[in-house]
Amino acid sequence: MAGVIYPRMAVVGCGLIGSSVILAARAAGVVGEVAVADASPEHRARILELGYADQVTGDIAEAVAGADLVVLAVPVLAMGDAAKACAPALKPGATVTDVGSVKGSVAEALAAVLPPEVFIVPGHPIAGTEQSGPDAGFAELFQKRWVILTPQDRTDDAYLDAVQKLSEFWTVIGANVDRMDPGHHDLVLAVTSHLPHLIAYNIVGTAADMEEVTQAEVMKYSAGGFRDFTRIAASDPTMWRDIFVANKDAVLEILGRFTEDLQALSRAIRWGESDKLYELFSRTREIRRGIIAAGQESAEPNFGRDHGKH
Ligand code: NAP
Repeated sequence: MAGVIYPRMAVVGCGLIGSSVILAARAAGVVGEVAVADASPEHRARILELGYADQVTGDIAEAVAGADLVVLAVPVLAMGDAAKACAPALKPGATVTDVGSVKGSVAEALAAVLPPEVFIVPGHPIAGTEQSGPDAGFAELFQKRWVILTPQDRTDDAYLDAVQKLSEFWTVIGANVDRMDPGHHDLVLAVTSHLPHLIAYNIVGTAADMEEVTQAEVMKYSAGGFRDFTRIAASDPTMWRDIFVANKDAVLEILGRFTEDLQALSRAIRWGESDKLYELFSRTREIRRGIIAAGQESAEPNFGRDHGKH
């Protein structure tokens, strides 16, 4: 047991990820007092009811005052404004991190508005579900998942200590921590997460628009592939709109390569090049086996509970 790492933690935005950070941190005993800032009065009432925090407010400055760790857990395009609202109230020496799914633009937005006396350590837990809101959170969400930190280019001891402390925080709550350059993070996530979501949104949209296939047939025969796509395509629209806007360059680069590969597949089907199809499908099967071997096959650890009532 590491004991309390941050005597006061403030979480700005208590949705799926914010509430899971609180539950995981409390379960591991790494935080003392917990303060939450959330914009929605209904969600604030629910957060109080669930007993997630010692202080629940709609005022970001009030929540972050005196905090040793501030976790920004709002949609990516809202990070800059949330950080701006924190800035005047932050304690010198506090660590400010975020959980946004895009790192380059968020890291820039935070650096532009936060004071020099705080330590900015952007982060991204690679864990989630398609659920949203405070009810969706659970303490085990980050267990055995990767958290990528994208520290600033600073080498002073105080900053390195702050990064080390945040790594320890995530490690104690069960995650594996990696450090990466923000641009590289955005390219990696464009391949592993952003493009797959775009494909899911697109295929579900295509099926919904097809006039010769009725909606009833789509529901009735949605076994296997399509059903998995509908789960991904049910992810939060605000969060994903923000991700594509904020990670435009990396997504377009990967989408270009994907489109070329799709053209090649289309050609192989047209010309009956069955060997090419077989070779690709065999290669991709190996990738799946590699993911299973690495213990990362399930997006959501199955702890046998019903997450998310939203
Ligand atoms: P969520 O459950 O929808 O929660 C979002 C939170 O942000 C809510 O507290 C919401 O407040 C608040 N919010 C929404 N729009 C806002 C705005 N314009 N200004 C201030 N606050 C706003 O979403 P989430 O899944 O926890 O995602 C939060 C962050 O985690 C995002 O940056 C996302 O990229 C990242 N992330 C998500 C996943 C995932 O799988 N879901 C995984 C890793 C990282 P209200 O109570 O008012 O609605």
